Amino acid sequence: MKNNYSIWVAEFANVPNYPLSGLIYGAHNQGVVRLPYCYVVIKGHGHIAMVDVGYNHKEYGAVLATMYGARDWHPPREVLAEIGIAPEDITHAFLTHAHFDHMGNIEDFPNATFYIQERELSKWVWAMSLERRFRWLMAGVDPADILRTVELARNGRLVCIDGDREDVLPGIDIHAAHDTHTWGSMYVRLRNDLSPNSKNAWLFAGDLVYMQENLRGYKPDDPEYIPIGFASGSQLKLVMTMEELVKGVDGDINRVIAIHEDRLKDMFPSRLAPNGVRVTQLALADNESSRV
Ligand SMILES: [Zn+2]
Repeated sequence: MKNNYSIWVAEFANVPNYPLSGLIYGAHNQGVVRLPYCYVVIKGHGHIAMVDVGYNHKEYGAVLATMYGARDWHPPREVLAEIGIAPEDITHAFLTHAHFDHMGNIEDFPNATFYIQERELSKWVWAMSLERRFRWLMAGVDPADILRTVELARNGRLVCIDGDREDVLPGIDIHAAHDTHTWGSMYVRLRNDLSPNSKNAWLFAGDLVYMQENLRGYKPDDPEYIPIGFASGSQLKLVMTMEELVKGVDGDINRVIAIHEDRLKDMFPSRLAPNGVRVTQLALADNESSRV
């Protein structure tokens, strides 16, 4: 299978004991799981893109991370070095949504153009403007990240999208999933053969999916969609979006990449560096050397 892009998932932090009920709707009193924090690196066609950029372990980002129980944080320079690249090499960053662990480190990628749904940005501004008793709506977001994103727009480095957009880079499409996990969530579809009817597609689901069980339920021979445990939007829309995701990869749910899924490392070639950074390799383009 010819790959136009190499794809890696890099783990930069983790929560050792996250309640399963936060990840799978209704999974109460079923214990905890290890929750990795990752971003995706996509290299090809003269570009290096990321899906989400992690968070920076300082100021309110560190407060939120500590509150959610995250540890073992590594800065992008250290993480990307395991792939042989530097933060300055990143040309495009697709922000699936504004939660701190996805959008909390814009400042470490000085040469990237960032992509976000217009609705994601405007609704967080709206949520910030509400009275204090509505503060649950702000869960998981660092207001300073919203300001930094506006600053990107001012500097000509932000692309605000309203809905879907094809071929943002060759073979890479953005799809809106509004009013699901967040107001303006989006996911990224990569057609690694560049074909419109791709037989080699990958989906980067942001937090529309946390674990495989969200897409297949608990019984392998009788699959069902079970929404995620944390959403400010509609569970109905989440379930219908899951159908979209599965169709987007021709039913091969292993190609719907959930960056909080700890078992990715067992599904694809993976390497744990001595510093604790993990790199999992989803695809390798021609002339590219393995990082695992
Ligand atoms: Zn999230």
